[in-house]
Amino acid sequence: MTVAEIIIENGRLVTFDDSNNGCAEAIALAGGRILAVGSNAEIGAMRGPDTRTIDAAKCTVLPGFIESHIHLFSGGLELGLLDLSSSHDIETVTARVRAYSAEQPDVPLLYAIGAHYDLLGPGRMIDRHGLDRVIPDRPFAVMAADHHTLWANTRALELAGILRGGPVSEGSEIVMGADGLATGELLESGAYEHVLAKTASGGRDLLGMTTGNDPSPPATPQQRAADKAVLRDALRHLAKTGVTTFHNMDGNLYQLELLSEIEAEGDLICRGQIPFHLKNFDPVDRLAEADEMRRRFDSDWLWSGRLKLFHDGVVESGTAAMLRPYPNWPDSTGAPLFAPEQFNEICVRADAMGLQISVHAIGDAAVRGTLDGYAAARAANGVRDSRHRIEHIEVLHPGDLPRLRALDVVASMQPLHAPWGGLFAPPEEGQVLHEDQKPLAYACQTIRETGVPLIFSSDWPVVPVEVLPSLGAAVAPKVLGGNWTDQRQNLHDALASYTSTAAYAEFSEGRKGRLAPGMFADLVILSDDIENTAPQEVGALSVRLTICGGRVTYDVG
Ligand SMILES: [Zn+2]
Repeated sequence: MTVAEIIIENGRLVTFDDSNNGCAEAIALAGGRILAVGSNAEIGAMRGPDTRTIDAAKCTVLPGFIESHIHLFSGGLELGLLDLSSSHDIETVTARVRAYSAEQPDVPLLYAIGAHYDLLGPGRMIDRHGLDRVIPDRPFAVMAADHHTLWANTRALELAGILRGGPVSEGSEIVMGADGLATGELLESGAYEHVLAKTASGGRDLLGMTTGNDPSPPATPQQRAADKAVLRDALRHLAKTGVTTFHNMDGNLYQLELLSEIEAEGDLICRGQIPFHLKNFDPVDRLAEADEMRRRFDSDWLWSGRLKLFHDGVVESGTAAMLRPYPNWPDSTGAPLFAPEQFNEICVRADAMGLQISVHAIGDAAVRGTLDGYAAARAANGVRDSRHRIEHIEVLHPGDLPRLRALDVVASMQPLHAPWGGLFAPPEEGQVLHEDQKPLAYACQTIRETGVPLIFSSDWPVVPVEVLPSLGAAVAPKVLGGNWTDQRQNLHDALASYTSTAAYAEFSEGRKGRLAPGMFADLVILSDDIENTAPQEVGALSVRLTICGGRVTYDVG
């Protein structure tokens, strides 16, 4: 019999494996794989003199979490910035920003993150005048929690050279006021990159986010080292939250190279997929670069093979593409970032190349356009096991609900983005969403019930990457009433969306997402027995220990 390197005993294993569920209290690991799952006695027989034994103390043991949608670099970078996500009035914001300013006398532009749309108080517009009151004498900018809007004060707009407007790419906007000057509201990265270029990190926040382009000019050795340090911080943070695999949703060759250097140095403590991000203004021939990324990086720890596209923006700023005008902006439906023919051509070609496609689609028009693209790929290339994904699906037309299943789409959603998640306030009546759109808004459970594979994530740094709070939101959503529907998940479904279903979504169901012999030794031990925890307490649980590839990557000690 093979001797175990690690034995975890006295656990309550949730295996997602029919052959052993119910009797599993211990697990043996060796060679980076799971050796066996069984009773304490059965697994104890595999103990050798050098076996490390871990007592799970009746806590839940799960397959390692697969985080299906994050932005690793910006997540890592934001770990060290002023986070205003808990501030909702101008007095608090002013006090915190001025304190931050005193701590950072030398940075060229004070930069904060996490802002909600009520940052300066309920119903109060965020613009340069408001931010000038917060801090008039230094350039200051704050990023929306959703990362689709940046607000800048007058000094910051002057520093970036856009107080009187400036060039932006399609789909982005420097919002201009009646006085001919920028209001301070900068919609989408093509508008706010001018300001971010003036931060202490010189705009490297956008690394891979705006385009699939590598940084230009190429990173200096010092920048390369600094960027790797950011990625290492991010990886350590993931391990702490029980994540053993992440799907990045921005990327380029440069990020892959940095991560592969980290891997060679023995510090890639989390498996990860980096996609190629094609923008609406990129020529479709750039798909060749996605192919190169796939060929060069294809290991169990680091791989590519995914194409990421943005079809629209977000509802809160009116940039999500809707089938009819917003209730509060009767002249605007938002606009899809791609023309239908262009989008369909990209889908057909990427699908024919065997790439998996992930499309950010928030408004119902963007979701419909994405489904049309996937249908076009099928019509051209035949039905293949493509597992194309739609990211977010916040507003869905009833006519498109059955198409998700019919086209074998994977739905990728974020419990903490939903108003029932408790982090973002629901829009007021008559704002942003029509009443008849609410029943199918953020409709995780409705979509799940149609048989669509549903995976969960945070979209870190949009919301914290910690898995348990997202699970807590999924199993104990806030009751919103009115036309909002109950999208409550049962615990095992919600856990599957972070484990077994997420493994399916990356074509790894034979290697990940279950506790069974031969699978990767990727697992977590929680701080308690989650199956015997009240749903409303699930979000307060935490991760005690993370193992990835048979190596302990986090131990609360
Ligand atoms: Zn994202």
